Amino acid sequence: MSAESLTCAAGTGRTTASSITDVTEVTPTLPDDHNELISDLCGIVSDYPHGSPSATLGLLADDAADALDRIGTPQGRRERTGYTILLHTTCWYVAARVFSKSLFASYTQALEGLRATLDPASCTCPAGAHPTDVDGEYGVEAGVSMLSEAGRAVFAEEYELEGEELAAFDCEAFLAGLADGAAARMREAHKELFGGVDVSHLDVRFLRDDGGIDIVALQEAIRRSWEDNTGPVALWSARRWLAGQVRDEERIGLFLSLWMGIAQTYGGLPPSYARDLVAALDTIGPDASCEHPQHPWSATTHVQSRYEAVVHLYAPEDYPDTPVPVELSARELWECPAHYAELARGAREVVQQWRHMRGGEEDDW
Ligand SMILES: [Zn+2]
Ligand SMILES: [Zn+2]
Repeated sequence: MSAESLTCAAGTGRTTASSITDVTEVTPTLPDDHNELISDLCGIVSDYPHGSPSATLGLLADDAADALDRIGTPQGRRERTGYTILLHTTCWYVAARVFSKSLFASYTQALEGLRATLDPASCTCPAGAHPTDVDGEYGVEAGVSMLSEAGRAVFAEEYELEGEELAAFDCEAFLAGLADGAAARMREAHKELFGGVDVSHLDVRFLRDDGGIDIVALQEAIRRSWEDNTGPVALWSARRWLAGQVRDEERIGLFLSLWMGIAQTYGGLPPSYARDLVAALDTIGPDASCEHPQHPWSATTHVQSRYEAVVHLYAPEDYPDTPVPVELSARELWECPAHYAELARGAREVVQQWRHMRGGEEDDW
């Protein structure tokens, strides 16, 4: 198969040698803007977007919605097929990578609009005739190709599709299945990204029998990076902090667990988390100053040394090693308001980077 010749090969280093056949034949070609669309969307579905993925996807959803006005025409039906496939193929990216309510709304609206024009009962396809795995770069190629007559010709040639196989892409039951699946995924993701996250089930893991906070347990959870605990630990810590359910001696440990949960979530956390994290950080006055030349956290440089510093602070006998030198280890230095202010400032900057990286309006956060 030589589908790469359509499109996605540019920049991916893949060979396109197989497509250079029968050069003497006049082959149908895609419009330039469709080639560009394939290239942009392939970058997005491969998780290596160029340009602004949220702008590209917003435009895609708008174009899909516009196509609804033409649904009574043959061209409108071609577009319905193409856009339904494209929204299906790209929705995972919107759900997982872009924290933007307006983009969610555009996708949901377009999907619902398309779905309303589809009648699954009209399917007369033989069993197993519906296209499968219209995902990833193939899904992008299929979707964009379906938008135009010329694109369909290119696609049919590339994948050696016969008339019926090509026609199955237009089947309303097939398309309705894609639209329903994508809409369900968007609904689920909307809850996760913008709704409320319940972390109360973590109380049993992070509270000791006497009601105190088990700082070492929080640190161990963060340390198990393969479990993706940073977000839940940060949120649990933030809620505890905001509720004032923290003893004096636990404060710095809880705050550092919040800090590490933020700083060590490299892909960013969605607004459903960030709201309470920022609220907790905002309880710290930004302007505290002191005479100390340095604070203990400045002695930590990486993930492992942060962990060692905190567990040593709370269980020095079990964890004798710490990167914090004796001259920086006084409790008064740990608890210095300027130390908290430094930590809060750094964590706020990280959250700000998430917003920048994940998009979305200020209100979404
Ligand atoms: Zn069918
Ligand atoms: Zn200080």
